[in-house]
Amino acid sequence: MRMSKAFIPTLRDNPAEADTVSHQLLVRAGFIRKSAAGLYHYLPLGMRVLSKIENIVREEMDAADCQELLMPIVQPAELWMETGRWHVYGDEMFRIQDRHDRSFCLGPTHEEMITDLVRNEVTSYRQLPLRLYQIQNKYRDERRPRFGLIRGREFVMKDMYSFDRDPAGLDESYQAMYQAYTNVFRRCGLNCRPVEADGGAIGGSATHEFMALADIGEATIVYCDSCDYAANVEIAPCPKDDTKIDAAPLAMEKVSTPNSKTIEDVAAFLKVDAKQCIKTLFFQADEELICVLMRGDYEVNDVKVQKVHPCYTLEMAEEEAVAKAVGCSFGSLGPVGLKDIKIYADYSVENMVNLVCGANEEAYHFINVNPGRDFQVEGYYDLRTLNEGEPCPKCGGVTKYARGIEVGQVFKLGTKYSEALNASYLDENGKSNIIHMGCYGIGVSRTLAATVEQNNDENGIIWPKNIAPYHVVVVPISAKDEEQMAIAENIYKQLQAQGLEVVLDDRNERPGVKFKDADLIGYPVRITVGKKAVSDNIVEYKLRTAQENEELTVEETITRAVAYIKE
Ligand SMILES: [Zn+2]
Repeated sequence: MRMSKAFIPTLRDNPAEADTVSHQLLVRAGFIRKSAAGLYHYLPLGMRVLSKIENIVREEMDAADCQELLMPIVQPAELWMETGRWHVYGDEMFRIQDRHDRSFCLGPTHEEMITDLVRNEVTSYRQLPLRLYQIQNKYRDERRPRFGLIRGREFVMKDMYSFDRDPAGLDESYQAMYQAYTNVFRRCGLNCRPVEADGGAIGGSATHEFMALADIGEATIVYCDSCDYAANVEIAPCPKDDTKIDAAPLAMEKVSTPNSKTIEDVAAFLKVDAKQCIKTLFFQADEELICVLMRGDYEVNDVKVQKVHPCYTLEMAEEEAVAKAVGCSFGSLGPVGLKDIKIYADYSVENMVNLVCGANEEAYHFINVNPGRDFQVEGYYDLRTLNEGEPCPKCGGVTKYARGIEVGQVFKLGTKYSEALNASYLDENGKSNIIHMGCYGIGVSRTLAATVEQNNDENGIIWPKNIAPYHVVVVPISAKDEEQMAIAENIYKQLQAQGLEVVLDDRNERPGVKFKDADLIGYPVRITVGKKAVSDNIVEYKLRTAQENEELTVEETITRAVAYIKE
């Protein structure tokens, strides 16, 4: 590729809306351009990287006996109604109607489509196991698209679906994918960690997420220093504290708590510990308002709440809705006297004695409230988020937090979709059995962005060589110098002949501009051709990861570059 002919529009400054390093660098270095919120063009450099990641994914999938196919992006609503997910997806689903008023969606995932295909084609045990995948655009109408390619509304995904005779077969498929994913992310140069996770809207029994470690990651990972435990904080179980407090229940009393809105305010005003107060939270669970209680110093975990109270959507309730139902706005809410509202309490509330809670009256709280005596609950559950430093759920060691970008997820679906859609096969005895399914996704465009998030410095991107858009850039100091250009041209052609992907920066620009662009774009190798090349056959060889250049003969340079890229 000659830079003079290339479509690589680099920018000097970070675009205003770019909110993470990878987003800034991918736009500035000319890999992507925004079209609308969460929708991006992949420019030629971005497209090259994307294709390389796709090819790594393909190689690993094919090596694990998976076969590639391609399904329609536009999916009929009827299939989603059969599994009940037409509603689960809520506003995140892009819904469209054709000219006959038939409803469709732009695929956010393809479990329904593939299961429909397979139920119509597979009838016998002889056709199983089957592993089918595609690489394609997916659509989710995110409330807040952000971080460039990391949370877009259109993104490239690899989705694989496995079909097995029984749970043992599914185990095998799951293990094969777990290994394939480990290989994919290693080959892409990502520092990635598999963690136990929640199934969310997809459902299923076992699932792991593959997390690229990064400070901007939206997911919190809990891991243990002493063992291999690692989980998304959404599912990390919290220990149940069984210590009984040795105190006699006192008579409940209503006290005035002016200007005390938060737990901290109330605790300070009443001169008690936050651990003596309970947090009263209201959630909108579909159409229903529910109440969750938690010890004052703990944080609620939405995912756990939704497990205890299954619903399509769970959101913190609006203050207006709570005020209407309870007769009091935020700041003085409590469980005492609540009518027709389900109350779920965290384990931490169960053994509390003489606690403090809001009185459901502006600027008043109750003291000496006792669970069971003064209010009733549906039950006590694990509803909170494990704090960093608490004991590891597996070995009791000390837990730590890390942030991660979810780049892949593997699910054991079991028979959830095959039952709903009646995908079955006949065994050797002619008996009908339900197919066991797994599904396995890789965010291909997200992997691209996560790689940049992990591999950069103040000058730009540092591409791992397996997915770099080009391997080498050859920079003649002066494009007007015919002798320099001839040597640069020669190196360019020799490297190409050896199978390397090379850019010749033949632009009539100052060397500083070319170097800046080379570092920004992040080619693994830069070869600079200056005066010494003409007088002494010496050029500069520099790796993007190295601080210094080396002076080598043209021949040595070519040998080194080829060896480095192919090693
Ligand atoms: Zn542990």
